[in-house]
This record gives sequence, structure tokens and C-alpha cells, in this order.
Amino acid sequence: MSIRIGILGYGNLGRGVECAVAANEDMELAAVFTRRDPSALKIATAGVPVVSVNEAEAWKDKIDVMILCGGSATDLPVQGPKYAKLFNIIDSFDTHARIPEHYAAVDKAAKESGHIGIISVGWDPGLFSLARVYSNAILPQGRDYTFWGRGVSQGHSDAIRRIKGVKDARQYTVPVPAALEAVRAGKNPELTTRQKHTRECFVVLEEGADAAYVENEIKTMPNYFADYDTTVTFISEEELQANHRGLPHGGSVIRTGTTGHAQENKHVIEFKLDLDSNPEFTTSVLIAYARAAYRLAKEGQTGCRTVLDIAPAYLCAQSGEELRAHLL
Ligand code: NDP
Repeated sequence: MSIRIGILGYGNLGRGVECAVAANEDMELAAVFTRRDPSALKIATAGVPVVSVNEAEAWKDKIDVMILCGGSATDLPVQGPKYAKLFNIIDSFDTHARIPEHYAAVDKAAKESGHIGIISVGWDPGLFSLARVYSNAILPQGRDYTFWGRGVSQGHSDAIRRIKGVKDARQYTVPVPAALEAVRAGKNPELTTRQKHTRECFVVLEEGADAAYVENEIKTMPNYFADYDTTVTFISEEELQANHRGLPHGGSVIRTGTTGHAQENKHVIEFKLDLDSNPEFTTSVLIAYARAAYRLAKEGQTGCRTVLDIAPAYLCAQSGEELRAHLL
């Protein structure tokens, strides 16, 4: 029998889960849940019910794993514990500083209801976290670096869109090539925020907007842009649609370390991602962890987990025997 997947929230990740389920033979999409009017929501897969979140409880026994696709800022802190009471859940919560608190809330709800919740799944947090943990365990004498990009940061693009006079915007985070090279060469450089990444902004203005004002508002925005070398390019709406519609992303987690009696031998571990579509890749990771959640639940396990707690064999559709023969 296939693993019955539910999607809760139909944004970029919701649409990505749809594709990922279709690409995995052991899964089927049972239903899509939304807070909006379900009759007005058109989804890509024919024949799958679109249901109001208010009716989710009636689906308790018809869904094996519910993938929560809400935003990290305000949706997931509420949706995680709420839906862990009804379902095994997966989420992609990415507010790193608040993961311990989110973990505790999901753990409590999942233990009380007898479900499994795997939180903060994706690539960062997610696969990048695994890379950091593996390389720290292996090279205790060393140094960690994370570079993001070149890729679209949706948070930064949204921040630009909120400035008066801006119609639309895309912000790319770009690693500084010289910094990346120095780290890869094992030089262990001390890098400031400004030395690691630059920010490129492509902005469509409203008619009659003041370009100089907008550029200054972007470049001096605290937390988002003020600590970076930022370039602002004004473009037409057509150009934005033609050249900046996608959501590429990626980056590298690098640990440089030493071994030997005098720490004389140098090692570099790099885990690199180069993604055409951030949401489609992220949801491919979510689906692999949904398979793990299904298996853990079948074993009778309950409570919250992160990617760090899941053994790799639980992620693959292949049996242990097949994995040992072909992928070990
Ligand atoms: P979206 O903004 O596209 O969707 C979030 C929610 O907003 C949806 O679940 C949907 O809920 C609602 N929504 C979507 N479109 C509309 C619309 N047109 N009108 C009204 N409501 C809408 O977010 P993403 O899917 O891009 O990302 C979700 C989260 O995933 C992000 O906050 C990010 O933190 C996280 N993420 C994590 C990654 C990782 O590596 N761990 C990587 C990428 C993202 P509803 O249908 O109920 O209205």
C-alpha cells in the first residue's frame, strides 16, 4: 500500500510536494488542505480533493503523513503542535534560533497523541545541518563555514517589496569568490559578514517612484542589507518576468580541519548544493523524511525528531539489502 500524503498549505512548497509525491512510486497524494476557500484553489493534480483546514480532523485516519507547508515566521509555530495532535507531520521550520522551542512544542503534542513529527527538514536547516554534524564529529579540530547562493532570498525580496515605490523585486545572495577560494584552499580566513556574501537586488518601480530614495532605503536597511555590499539594478516588469521568475538557490557547507600528532595534515570537507528550484528541491527532501516518519510510526515511535535523529536507511524506498548491495 502506498504512503498517503497530505499537503497543508498550498504555496511554493505545497506545489513542490505535489511534484515530489508524483516522482515517488511508494506515495500517493490523498488531499490538499488550505486556509483559503478550497473551491477557489486550483491545484495541479487532477482528482485530488482540496479541503478546508477546518475539516482536517475528519482525515485523521486517511493520511499517513501530513506535510506542513506554511511559512516559518508565523504559520509553523502554530501548525506544528496543532497538527501533530492529529497526524504524523513533517515541516521545514527554518528560524534556526527558535528550533529548540518549536521542537519542545511539537514533541509534547506528538507524544500525547502518539504521533511522530520531524521538524526543520529541508536543506538549511536539513541537509546542511547533517553536513555540519558529520564534519564536526569527524574533524573535532577545525572550523566551519557556510556560504549561501547564488540564490534568491525570499525574505530579502519581500523586505524590498515593502519599501514605498517598489512594485516588485528579487534579491540574490552571492558568495564572494575570493572568500570561497580561500576557505577551499584550507587557509582558515577570518571573514566578516561583508567579506562572505554580496547582495544583488533587481527592482521594478511603481510609476513616478523616486529611484534614489528606494536605492538608499535598500542599502541602509538594518539586518537585511546595511552589513553587505549591495547593488541595486532597476529593471522593467517584463525583464523581471523573463529573467528572474525562478527560485534558484544553493550553497556550500565547508569544514576545514587538521589531524596528526602535530595537527600537521589538513583536510577539507565540502557539501555543495546547486539548485534550479529551491521549493522543488526542499520538498524532495521533505518527502524522503515523510517516508522515514511513516516507518517510525509503524514501529510505534512517538514524539519529535530532527534530521539529526533519523538513520539514513529510513529515507530510501529501497530495502536494507538493496542499499547494502548498491549504495553502500
Ligand atoms: P509561501 O509563502 O509560498 O506559502 C506559505 C503559505 O502561505 C502557504 O502554505 C499558503 O497557505 C499561503 N499562501 C501561499 N500562496 C498564497 C496566496 N497566493 N494567497 C494567500 N495565501 C497564500 O511559502 P513557501 O512555500 O515558499 O515556504 C514556506 C516556508 O518554508 C518558508 O517560510 C521557509 O521558512 C521554509 N523553507 C525552508 C527551507 C529549508 O531548507 N528548511 C527551504 C525553503 C523554504 P494556505 O494554502 O493555507 O493559504
